[in-house]
Amino acid sequence: MATRILIDHRSGGAQAIQTPAEASAPAAPRHPEKARRPDNPIQRKPAWIRVKAPTHPVYHETRALMRDNRLVTVCEEAACPNIGECWSQRHATMMIMGETCTRACAFCNVRTGMPDALDADEPRRVADAVAKLGLRHVVITSVDRDDLDDGGAAHFAAVIRAIRAAAPAATIEVLTPDFLRKPGAVETVVEARPDVFNHNLETVPRLYPSIRPGARYYQSLRLLDRVKALDPTVFTKSGMMVGLGEARPEIMQVMDDLRVADVDFLTLGQYLQPTVKHAAVDRFVTPEEFADYAALARAKGFLLVSATPLTRSSYHADADFAALRAAREAKLTVAGETDAA
Ligand code: SF4
Repeated sequence: MATRILIDHRSGGAQAIQTPAEASAPAAPRHPEKARRPDNPIQRKPAWIRVKAPTHPVYHETRALMRDNRLVTVCEEAACPNIGECWSQRHATMMIMGETCTRACAFCNVRTGMPDALDADEPRRVADAVAKLGLRHVVITSVDRDDLDDGGAAHFAAVIRAIRAAAPAATIEVLTPDFLRKPGAVETVVEARPDVFNHNLETVPRLYPSIRPGARYYQSLRLLDRVKALDPTVFTKSGMMVGLGEARPEIMQVMDDLRVADVDFLTLGQYLQPTVKHAAVDRFVTPEEFADYAALARAKGFLLVSATPLTRSSYHADADFAALRAAREAKLTVAGETDAA
């Protein structure tokens, strides 16, 4: 079977890779809804977003563990460019509820179509892998499951509970879909007490109809706001891609909207085009511009900001979680001292 050039939406970068989904199934087109679209030529990436092929022995151990436990990772499904670095440090982002997504975003390389039924044994296998990897911090994401009554919220909660039982010391971060606004879905996940609740806005509101047509910007914002209202101790996090044609004032507006929703952590990374059928890269944002956005975001009050060309939702998530906790403690200390003065 031929390998392909893939790139992640949440994770960006390109390499020839055969995903587990392709190895087990094949023939069916990965994105049937995009097949008739005109081709968008893929631009050559600048030097600052090139990455090395993975060679570290621990990378291969992590890969074997994922295979042995029949786990799907967004790292592979979306061919994240950071996989060599992350897996060499035993950091992988598991993608639950299958490898087929019910949405068809213009930036995303995850397979689309009608997914299989949920696997009731998946929470146990995920928890087992977390325990075996000895993870301090785990990130769990999923495909969109608009076909399910709760959008997959109860399955997310089951995975969180299974990890808590198998690896009580591990902190848990979830990167969820919007659950298609299904009643009670957000509440179900928050009740399971993840440490970090991440939901990506992905892009500026003007580009939603072309880039994220199945979602609504203000509903995603409302979801983040709701999480914080339900449990103010949960860290909230959101991310967006740049280089899709957004303007600087629009990015600033998204930052302001996220602060109004009291979101703690912002991630910003370069969009990379997975295939000729996906949205074209409008431009490559320079590292200096990313540094400028990071400074602006910090000034707006986010507890933590990660903004580099290779930043992805789960990149360095373990170290970032420690920094997030430290930033909250420092803020509370300052607030306490101010109150006492
Ligand atoms: S950045 Fe996230 S998706 Fe990419 S390899 Fe690392 S853990 Fe996986």
